[in-house]
Amino acid sequence: MARMNAIPPATLRHDWSTADIQALLEAPFPELMFRAQAAHRAHHDPCRVQISTLLSIKTGGCPEDCAYCPQSAAYETGVAASKLMDVGAVLAEARAARDAGATRFCMGAAWRSPKDRDLDAVCAMVEGVRALGLESCVTLGMLTAPQAQRLAAAGLDYYNHNLDTSPEYYRDIITTRTYQDRLDTLGHVRDAGINVCCGGIVGMGEAAADRAGLIAALASLPKHPESVPINALVRVAGTKLADAAPIDAIDFVRVIAAARISMPLAYVRLSAGREGMTDEAQALCFLAGANSIFYGPRLLTTANPAADRDRVLLGRLGMRAQ
Ligand code: SF4
Repeated sequence: MARMNAIPPATLRHDWSTADIQALLEAPFPELMFRAQAAHRAHHDPCRVQISTLLSIKTGGCPEDCAYCPQSAAYETGVAASKLMDVGAVLAEARAARDAGATRFCMGAAWRSPKDRDLDAVCAMVEGVRALGLESCVTLGMLTAPQAQRLAAAGLDYYNHNLDTSPEYYRDIITTRTYQDRLDTLGHVRDAGINVCCGGIVGMGEAAADRAGLIAALASLPKHPESVPINALVRVAGTKLADAAPIDAIDFVRVIAAARISMPLAYVRLSAGREGMTDEAQALCFLAGANSIFYGPRLLTTANPAADRDRVLLGRLGMRAQ
C-alpha cells in the first residue's frame, strides 16, 4: 500500500536490543498502545486487515523436533503423515480462498528442507497461485541459496521461516536445527529477492525476556521482515508443550505492540491461537497494530476461527479486509 513506502527504510532502526524491547513490553499500557498506534497510522491504514489463507500441502511426518508442533514425527499427536498434494488440488483450494476474500495464499510443507525434485511441484503451485491473482507464500523448511533462487525464478512473493523464540530459549524448543540455520535460510531468501515472512510463537513457557529477545532478533535483521506472524501457542496433546501455561491476553497484545513499534512497515500478522482468543482481545491486537490475519477454518493442522466469525468481528469493528 502506498503509505507503507512513505518513509525510506534507511530511517528505520535495526539496532533494537532485548533491553529496548523489554522496556516497551513493560511500559504503561496506555503509553505502549499510543506509540504502537502512532507507528501503525504513520505507515498503514488502521481500518484495513490483510487476509492470508494457509494450506498444508504436505502434512506430518516431519523429522524436526519443534516442541510445539503436532506434525513432528517425534510426537504422538494423531496427525497422519501425507504426501505432497497434487498441483491441481492445491490450485482448487487457492481459487476457493481467493473467492472467499484472501489476497495471499500460503502453502506449508512439513519438511526439514525440500528435496530438489519437490521444488518442481512447488514452483508449479507458485506459478498457478500467482496466475489466480493471489500473492504466493511457501514455508518448506531450510533452503539452500540455489533453492531460494529457484523459487524466486518461479515468482514466489514471500517465504515464511520463523525464528520461533529468542536465541537463548531456542534450545528448549528445537534441537534438530540451530538459530543460525534459520538466519542462514532467511539470508538466502533475502539474497534471492523474495519477501520475508518471519515471526515467532509466544506462550511456550518462555520468560518475558525471551519475548523481548524474539522481537529484538526480528527487528535487528538487516532488513525487517515484510510480514511478521505472531502466534500464540496452540497446545496440542502429545507435543512437548501440551501443558504449557497459556499467555495472558494483555501480555500477548504487548508483544504485538512491540512488533509494530520496532518494525513499523511490516504487516504484523495475528496468526495461530486466535481460536482461543476473545473478540475483545483480538480487537486490542488490531489497536496495537496487527494488520493481517489468517482466514479460513484451519491453520495447517489446528483450528482457526471460521471465516464467518472473522467477517462479523471486522464488521463490528468497522474494519475492512484487503
Ligand atoms: S514446525 Fe515445521 S519444521 Fe518444526 S516439526 Fe513442525 S513441520 Fe517440522
